[in-house]
Amino acid sequence: MAKGSVMTDQAFDISGKVTIVTGGGTGIGAEIAREFCRRGAKVMITSRTMDHLGPVAEGIRNAGGTVEAMVCDVRHNDQVEAVVQKTVETWGRVDILINNAGASFVAHAHEISPNGFATIVAINLNGTFLFSRAVARVMIAKQTGGNIINISSDAGVYGSATMCHYGAAKAGVINLTRSLAIEWAPYGIRVNCISPGPIETEGVKEVLWPTPELQERAINATALKRFGTGLEIAWPCVFLASKASGYITGVNLQVDGCMLRSGSPESRLIA
Ligand code: NAP
Repeated sequence: MAKGSVMTDQAFDISGKVTIVTGGGTGIGAEIAREFCRRGAKVMITSRTMDHLGPVAEGIRNAGGTVEAMVCDVRHNDQVEAVVQKTVETWGRVDILINNAGASFVAHAHEISPNGFATIVAINLNGTFLFSRAVARVMIAKQTGGNIINISSDAGVYGSATMCHYGAAKAGVINLTRSLAIEWAPYGIRVNCISPGPIETEGVKEVLWPTPELQERAINATALKRFGTGLEIAWPCVFLASKASGYITGVNLQVDGCMLRSGSPESRLIA
């Protein structure tokens, strides 16, 4: 068998893998956490409130999964370090990090305050850097290698009318992915990115597509003419976290139903 090759039936195996999912108490992150636990991973979910994390953790435990939950704001390095430390204390290592926490608000560029812009960049871009850094330091020290998966957005690829702060931050995440992939390849750490298109999650639906008309516009902006689901993001995460993607690092995988008019005001709420 060639170096690096695995039995075909184990290629997508993530059982036993210690995984941190940021923003794991709602939407896409909760779906990723549930799917990873279903496949036998040990998952730490984290976000700003136990109100979100608690019910997801309980559901996973009731289904027989292994999960821990810890409150953390990704903008604060001391809180990020505490989550990584707790994960290592609990399970001895970190194999996979999924930087899924993200936030945005809809506003015209000329009406966004400096503080509003900085906040969105801090959550989406700085938070991704802080968690990646903290986890990579453990992976490097323990010589385990590992996988980091960043959740960007179609807005990071095409730009976004009414969410320029978010588009810029998510573009930064795509670029950061490639830089970190190059820097950390010698340590056996692969770093990849997924850019979702319109995914039907409660939080995002309320902000971006609150009316049937706006929902119609959003789905018509894709070639597949429908919203994606959280599971359709979780499954590519399984792929990127497993040996099936062993020769892939630094990529941005667009999971977006083929966006036809992304970045256009037509697919976004205009005040
Ligand atoms: P969501 O339910 O709003 O998820 C965002 C998560 O981030 C929440 O769990 C939130 O939890 C957490 N979060 C926000 N600010 C945080 C902070 N400062 N520190 C720690 N956690 C924080 O929306 P979603 O649709 O599942 O989005 C998940 C990811 O996919 C995001 O990165 C988003 O940008 C990206 N995405 C989504 C879509 C879509 O159409 N749904 C499209 C492209 C990209 P707390 O409130 O508990 O902190």
